[in-house]
Amino acid sequence: MNEKCLCEANEILIFSCAGSSNVGQIANQAAIKLAQGGVGRYFCLSGIGGHVSGMIESTKAGKMLVAIDGCPVGCGKKTLEHTGFNIDEYVQVTDLGIEKNHDFNIDLSNIGKVAGHVASRISIRRVI
Ligand code: SF4
Repeated sequence: MNEKCLCEANEILIFSCAGSSNVGQIANQAAIKLAQGGVGRYFCLSGIGGHVSGMIESTKAGKMLVAIDGCPVGCGKKTLEHTGFNIDEYVQVTDLGIEKNHDFNIDLSNIGKVAGHVASRISIRRVI
């Protein structure tokens, strides 16, 4: 049986690749939507990639790390893992049937689709 996540919203850190494609920007907007909805805190992936000490320490203090990547290249995942972090929940936008392109006139319904999917993954994750 699954249990609801017991983390406080400010203990759930959400990262997105924010890549230069429709799916990268959908990942970015979904992370914003999740933060606005009180699901977690949107955190700076580039600060992790840049090894900014304060951001590294803040990330270590998080209880759940969530990463949203636009596509299978997985830049956000690789950045976090390269810095030694384990990701608790991971979503790729293209896995939800959204095709990657470089048209930034994104379908806004896809933002809600991704955010909803991530939120459901967080809520059903078993907390050990
Ligand atoms: S994961 Fe895909 S969309 Fe995101 S930054 Fe990397 S290549 Fe771009």
